[in-house]
Amino acid sequence: MKPSDDTLARLKAVVGPKGFIDGADEMTPYLIERRDLYQGRAALILRPQSTGEISAIMKIAFETNTRVVPQGGNTGLVGGQIPDASGDEIILSLARMNRIGALDALNNTLTVEAGVTLAAAQDAARKADRLFPLSLASEGTCQIGGNLATNAGGTAVLRYGNARNLTLGLEVVLANGDIWNGLKGLRKDNTGYDMKHLFMGSEGTLGIITGAVLKLFARPKSVETAFVAVPDVDAAVALLRRADTASGGLVTGFELMPRIGVEFVLKHQAGSTDPLGQPSPWYVLVELSAGETRAGRLREVMEALLEAGVAEDDATDAVIAASDAQRAKLWAMREGMSEVQRLEGGSIKHDVSVPVSRVAEFITRASEAVSAAMPGVRPVPFGHVGDGNIHFNLTQPVGADKAAFIARWDEMNAIVHGIVRELGGSISAEHGVGQMKRDEIATTKSAVEMELMRTVKKALDPKGILNPGKVV
Ligand SMILES: Cc1cc2nc3c(=O)[nH]c(=O)nc-3n(C[C@H](O)[C@H](O)[C@H](O)COP(=O)(O)OP(=O)(O)OC[C@H]3O[C@@H](n4cnc5c(N)ncnc54)[C@H](O)[C@@H]3O)c2cc1C
Repeated sequence: MKPSDDTLARLKAVVGPKGFIDGADEMTPYLIERRDLYQGRAALILRPQSTGEISAIMKIAFETNTRVVPQGGNTGLVGGQIPDASGDEIILSLARMNRIGALDALNNTLTVEAGVTLAAAQDAARKADRLFPLSLASEGTCQIGGNLATNAGGTAVLRYGNARNLTLGLEVVLANGDIWNGLKGLRKDNTGYDMKHLFMGSEGTLGIITGAVLKLFARPKSVETAFVAVPDVDAAVALLRRADTASGGLVTGFELMPRIGVEFVLKHQAGSTDPLGQPSPWYVLVELSAGETRAGRLREVMEALLEAGVAEDDATDAVIAASDAQRAKLWAMREGMSEVQRLEGGSIKHDVSVPVSRVAEFITRASEAVSAAMPGVRPVPFGHVGDGNIHFNLTQPVGADKAAFIARWDEMNAIVHGIVRELGGSISAEHGVGQMKRDEIATTKSAVEMELMRTVKKALDPKGILNPGKVV
């Protein structure tokens, strides 16, 4: 329902003059997603500063059937944080909920408000010689609330798990304004349903996350990073298993890059150089990290692993970063992989996962299928091969019309997602469902599972005011 002037005035009164935005120009950054794939309109943007204010907002929204779109750093890639085009929804931005709370060094936990950026949470941990391992290229802007609402993944999932595995407690404001304070720092608590897991990954459709207790880890004292040429994706997966066994579980990152992606980086990323002399069809970025006791030996482990990899034909060449600056340069290649595709023209994206053992089959089949449907298309499959999560992006054919290429987005998605389904995979490995994949998830889930999701939604948001039109 369109909020009345009276409702808008009541909402503004909750947050005070500094806590809302209603001017068209100031609203714009909140209404557009960074790639400009989604644009919406809003009746009002609220920027509350406390859980109490959010509770008061939701009480008014519940009473007046006002629809609320929670928004964190607005870095989501599936349009979940963008309102619809009606102009009737309000955006609830968590940006001013950015206080860092207690760091309990003995319990290895950090309590934060939901609007704390991921980089600020990592920094707070670093200052106490601890590690908060969630790591995304968007970490300077995305917020902990957004990370948990999307169950974000990133480059360290292999070792530490995704956002849900890094969270011990949550505080959530429910659709009716009730506050659930579950800010516990417990590693064991089997007292019934584990409610926090309902809210994590729910993309703002079940409640507003206002705070979290995050799990910290020992900060690695030694890190070794190698850029490795591999002949094919099967060899990359074989090298992953070899690395895991040889290091005794010290693999922190294992990221796949194709030659075409590396060439795009060399062309578009200032200061980039080819780390190896000869081109290779595929590369992996391998990172091992260890604590104090094994620190001295990590270099030997990496060298032995690479030697064995070359001897067994899993690798053809490699370079180990000799300094932090070199390590940063290697990671910049991986992290720039999306951006450089944008500079090559249109890019049709797929964020999919399959069992790790089937990644090579997936990439081969999907590349052949899209090339048959669109001659000249340039597949750039890259990403978290260690998790079976590939960003199977398609760059437009050289010289093609960008708009005509992007117009075939759904057709390409259908081809790629069809293969993913056949391989028992997921059409959204880490970015979520949002608006983009809402209608499609029903094709990958059973009727029973879809009905369970609708039942949960109805129970927690009976009036359908929380992020409507997203996920279910
Ligand atoms: C360059 C780049 C790289 C990226 N790399 C990765 C990656 O490696 N792995 C990965 O998983 N993602 C990645 N992402 C996607 C994105 O950064 C993540 O999804 C991130 O977790 C979103 O956080 P945010 O604060 O920006 O949330 P937003 O974009 O603002 O919101 C995302 C969703 O969460 C909901 N939401 C936000 N805050 C709350 C809250 N407090 N309570 C309830 N719901 C809320 C919104 O309604 C929306 O549905 C990347 C994005 C970019 C731009």
